[in-house]
Amino acid sequence: MAKGVKRDLKHSEEAVDPSIHSSDAKPSPPSKKCKTSPAVSATAASDDDDVRFIGKPVPADQAREKWPHRYESKKRVKVIVSSDGELEKEIVQAKCHYTKAVVDGVSFDLYDDAYVKAEEGHPDFIARIVEMFETVDKELYFSAQWFFRAEDTVIKSQAHLIEKRRVFYSEMKDDNPLDSIVSKVKIIQLPPNVDLVEKEKALSSYDLYYDMQYSKPVTFTTLHKENIITESGESSVISDDGSSNGVVESGNKNAKSTKSNEKGKSEMTLLDLYSGCGGMSTGLCYGANMSGVKLVTKWAVDIDPHACESLKQNHAETQVRNEAAEDFLFLLKEWEKLCKEFDLLGSKHDEDTSVKSEESDSEEVDEKRDPYEGEFEVQKLIAVCYGDPCKTNNQKLHFKVRWKGFGPSYDTWEPFDGLSNCMDSIREFVTRGYQSRILPLPGDVDFICGGPPCQGISGHNRFRNYTDPLKDPKNHQLVVYMDIIDFLRPKFVLMENVCDIVKFADGILGYHAVGRLVSMNYQTRLGIMAAGSFGVPQCRLRVFLWGANTMMNLPQFPLPTHEVVGRGVVPVEFKDCIVGSDNDKPHKLEKSILLGDAISDLPEVTNNNGKDEMEYAGAPRTSFQKYIRSRKPVLGKGSSKKMMLYDHRPLELNEDDYARVCHIPKIKGANFRDLPGVRVGKNNIVEWDPSVERVLLPSGKPLVPNYAMTFVRGTSKKPFGRLGMDDIVTTVVGRAEPHNQALLHPNQDRVLTIRENARLQGFPDHYKLCGPVKARYMQIGNAVSFSVSTGLGYTLAKAIEGVCTSKPLKLPVKFPDCLGQLSSLKQDIEE
Ligand code: SAH
Repeated sequence: MAKGVKRDLKHSEEAVDPSIHSSDAKPSPPSKKCKTSPAVSATAASDDDDVRFIGKPVPADQAREKWPHRYESKKRVKVIVSSDGELEKEIVQAKCHYTKAVVDGVSFDLYDDAYVKAEEGHPDFIARIVEMFETVDKELYFSAQWFFRAEDTVIKSQAHLIEKRRVFYSEMKDDNPLDSIVSKVKIIQLPPNVDLVEKEKALSSYDLYYDMQYSKPVTFTTLHKENIITESGESSVISDDGSSNGVVESGNKNAKSTKSNEKGKSEMTLLDLYSGCGGMSTGLCYGANMSGVKLVTKWAVDIDPHACESLKQNHAETQVRNEAAEDFLFLLKEWEKLCKEFDLLGSKHDEDTSVKSEESDSEEVDEKRDPYEGEFEVQKLIAVCYGDPCKTNNQKLHFKVRWKGFGPSYDTWEPFDGLSNCMDSIREFVTRGYQSRILPLPGDVDFICGGPPCQGISGHNRFRNYTDPLKDPKNHQLVVYMDIIDFLRPKFVLMENVCDIVKFADGILGYHAVGRLVSMNYQTRLGIMAAGSFGVPQCRLRVFLWGANTMMNLPQFPLPTHEVVGRGVVPVEFKDCIVGSDNDKPHKLEKSILLGDAISDLPEVTNNNGKDEMEYAGAPRTSFQKYIRSRKPVLGKGSSKKMMLYDHRPLELNEDDYARVCHIPKIKGANFRDLPGVRVGKNNIVEWDPSVERVLLPSGKPLVPNYAMTFVRGTSKKPFGRLGMDDIVTTVVGRAEPHNQALLHPNQDRVLTIRENARLQGFPDHYKLCGPVKARYMQIGNAVSFSVSTGLGYTLAKAIEGVCTSKPLKLPVKFPDCLGQLSSLKQDIEE
């Protein structure tokens, strides 16, 4: 677009999305002829001088003081090279600066906003003119500070979510010939949370507005006053009170006042959606508590009953709802209607939020009474849900009824519309439920976290919809998740997902999430974190997306504490999203934690060990083992009983698989290739060794199964793979069959136990799981690594305390030690 200046983002003051503003191979637009104005010109424009500066140049001493980098060389361009010989920057050198120009008969002042010519067929770019100067070669230039339309940012595919008149401020600047200016545009800065009437009023005399800043790689934040470009103070701004040219309240300033509120408040409420067994929310609470913010998981929702059972088992303080998130959203809306109907909104919540289990209430019951005889009278309602609990193909609001004279085993779910003559019972239930906040209402939730499953992008799914993944019902939960946020409007949001969310189909799903948050006026920041960088022996890479409303500080990501190379394939364009990758002052990292560091203290167990609970065999051997055993529950009653070891049992392999495992040598990296009859041919592909007769197991089945030979076209070393004590595992997955993954214990003939996997995920040993063995493996494999969620909880607390920075935060001390600190902090809270 800009004639004469090859725009190379590396040289811009701040590089943003490379797909925009790049002049790449595209032709530059035709440029009008630039003419140099005389050093001292008359202010009147002559007819044929269609592009020129007018007025006197800025006095030389002032110009040199304000833009010293423009006056350092006599050559046209000053080249700055880094110590390793890389070209860092090219700075066009000035002869003098101006404050006024005329382009095509229209005059522009410094700090005016303008449309700037883009390539043919593309909409003009939008810039603020932050310098006007004549180069040493007498060319007329201006420095543009760019505004971004949604289309120009990473969320371009989701630009339809963003209002057309909204643009985003950026700190990216570069130099362009003056004749690339096309016309004037009037842009106003709006403060966060301006009301609609004020906004429309302000916009009546402006073309566009901005209220957030866009920065690389994927960050949208509210503007802080000190960052705003108008050095002249002449920017058009309306203040929170609606008056023009007032002072903009920065998000930061507002957030500071919230800090004391948050800290003084008894607790901050968390809703964990798609909670699984609670890896994400539990870690977040740990981390936040570490910094003194009392974050409590008040509600959790998951469709899986076993995961719910696990969460309940570890979190007495949480209302755990075993239902689909979409039904939960319907329920929230119905619940709000009921609360309004009974005039409850605005009345006081019961501050004692401990929830009594209604279902276990004992009443005088006549167990001998025939339940199928006579009239039934509602004694009381004990639960509510939206859905079809009786499987009658009827999705609606239901209440669980305790019948008069009957015990809990006779409770039934009844549709709301069938209870019209029980209004008193409904009122009583809703009133009690409102007081104890069994369900959140809009504004009740401070923080929503969750990882909406997007199975439509899973690499294992052969039928992925590449063109419109949002239409794939398997990805619908992303929309549901955002709809719940939209309804409840929490202060903070944290979404977790697989990296495919920003890779698959040009990252549409990930950018949809970002676009939805920005359209709801949330600040957002995206980062990719490797579990191993936070002190567990696992590479697992996951995407995290923070959101904060405009009154809050947008939380940062924690910097890695441990060495570990993320082994997942991250496309180059996301390299910058890896948290800590651009850390200019790398701090000293702890050595990686290895498998043995995490599990070497655990007692030996056999393939068919069926025990869910056992004693530890000895003292911890490493600091990891020490802290993972010593961590106490954040909330709930700490027990003084001897601590037992839970879930240290492996998936029991069938006889054939067990026999196969027993044949795998006890050497790191051994696998089915080490079994008789298999040899490795060309290109590292396995083949049968014709000189060896196929070995059969006592059952008659082959020792080496065909699926191992054909897995990944014979190239894989994973089937029946054995781990080494000095390994860092790739990703703990939800399945424990050794057929296509390396998860055999280094020196025992079995797969890793549930507890061993839990340790690889950083779960504290006291975290006990529920459900069948396979379901427990799944809960652990699904979870957000505890070490990562703890770090994120810590940075959340820092944001609440007023920390507002564009750089990831250093965690206070190395992982094990900070947890030691946590135990003592926890004791303080308990005392
Ligand atoms: N964040 C969790 C793990 C979540 S895994 C942790 O850190 O432990 C995703 C979860 O989504 C699974 O537990 C699955 O049961 C649940 N899930 C899938 N579809 C759902 C739906 N429609 N509604 C609610 N939960 C759902």
